[in-house]
Amino acid sequence: MNQPFATQDAQLRARAGRVIPGGLWGHQNAARLPAGYPQYFSHGQGCRIWDVDGREYIDFMGGWGPVVLGWHDPEVDAAAAKQAALGDCLNGPSERLVELAELVVDTIPHADWAMFSKNGTDASTQCVMIARSGTGRRKILVGTGAYHGAAPWCTPWPGGTTAEDRAHQIFFEWNNIESLERAVTEAGDDLAAILLSAFKYDLGKDHVMPTVEFARACRAAADRTGAALIVDDVRAGFRIDIGGTWEAVGVQPDLSAWSKAIANGHALGAVTGNDRFREGATKVFTTGSFWTAGVAMAAAIATIGKLKRDDGVGHMKAMGERFRAGLDAQAKAHGLPIRQSGPAQMPVVLFDDDADRRIGNAFCLEALQRGVYLHPTHTMFLSVAHTPADIDAALDRTDAAMAAVKKAVA
Ligand SMILES: *Cc1c(COP(=O)(O)O)cnc(C)c1O
Repeated sequence: MNQPFATQDAQLRARAGRVIPGGLWGHQNAARLPAGYPQYFSHGQGCRIWDVDGREYIDFMGGWGPVVLGWHDPEVDAAAAKQAALGDCLNGPSERLVELAELVVDTIPHADWAMFSKNGTDASTQCVMIARSGTGRRKILVGTGAYHGAAPWCTPWPGGTTAEDRAHQIFFEWNNIESLERAVTEAGDDLAAILLSAFKYDLGKDHVMPTVEFARACRAAADRTGAALIVDDVRAGFRIDIGGTWEAVGVQPDLSAWSKAIANGHALGAVTGNDRFREGATKVFTTGSFWTAGVAMAAAIATIGKLKRDDGVGHMKAMGERFRAGLDAQAKAHGLPIRQSGPAQMPVVLFDDDADRRIGNAFCLEALQRGVYLHPTHTMFLSVAHTPADIDAALDRTDAAMAAVKKAVA
């Protein structure tokens, strides 16, 4: 048979190009992937993934966030299979809904209640609606450059949206109290919510945690004005602190959005809130065909339970610190200065003097070719499945990758 394409990946891209607009939507579109990266994968196990051409990688992206315990965690797989055998989409929720809501309320200090959906965008959108419903006001303060999902009100690319979709949004700068207060003043008596990402993780930029002073200023501004403080914990939730990322700065939100890691790869979004916004939440009509499906909820119960029982957060932090220390030593040894920012379990690695990303892209591609899947600009994700031996094996390969980059740069 005629075989025009060298790889399975290229074949799938060519077929997709005929039947899927642009080959793929969103952030995994080939044009948005780092050059030379595979687009299609066949399977995952623990902290390893295999692309469709059979190449194996030690992974540091976790499916872009959802995979927190590793692929095919036996406890999550068993819980999901058990619920699947009973039924997933029934005519109403299963018992898992109430069990999960109880577990979430018990786990997350600010939460008096929980609601579930399918995606982070569902959850962040619901938070905004509940804040408006609960306050009867319109203005939402949003951090510049923050990602809250891909609905018309928040997608970072304006195609297909109108300016009106973003009406009533006022922007402020991260960790800048003056900028926040200016936005609060501009909103006047129409302020419904201050919406923050758990920490600042803009693509291609150093990641920055909130300062205690800034987090407290956000809380104080919300209290003073009667607005909701919303923390979008979709990306960082269940990785930094089991009770929510802002536990680290001692500030509790009124509403929080969750998704990615909540069910170890099963589709689930969640909103948690306190009693001040309980009535506002009851007044928002929000639903979806799959929002009460039981399998993802069973998976979430198993995922959160295991993270709590085994101190998954502590393990990911230790593995992230081991990886970070190794990369730092290699960068020094090879004379390629890097900046590592973000919490160790959600790192981003950027090279100095690399505005065009030539060095960062080359390093990640060299690592990829040696079987380590990194990302040059996006938040990466450690998982509970990483062992010290996995980290050390990855570091052996990144050392060789740095040597190759150093040679190419010289
Ligand atoms: C991924 C993400 C979202 C959107 O979640 P989806 O599940 O992709 O809809 C929202 N906020 C943050 C901070 C995210 O990282």
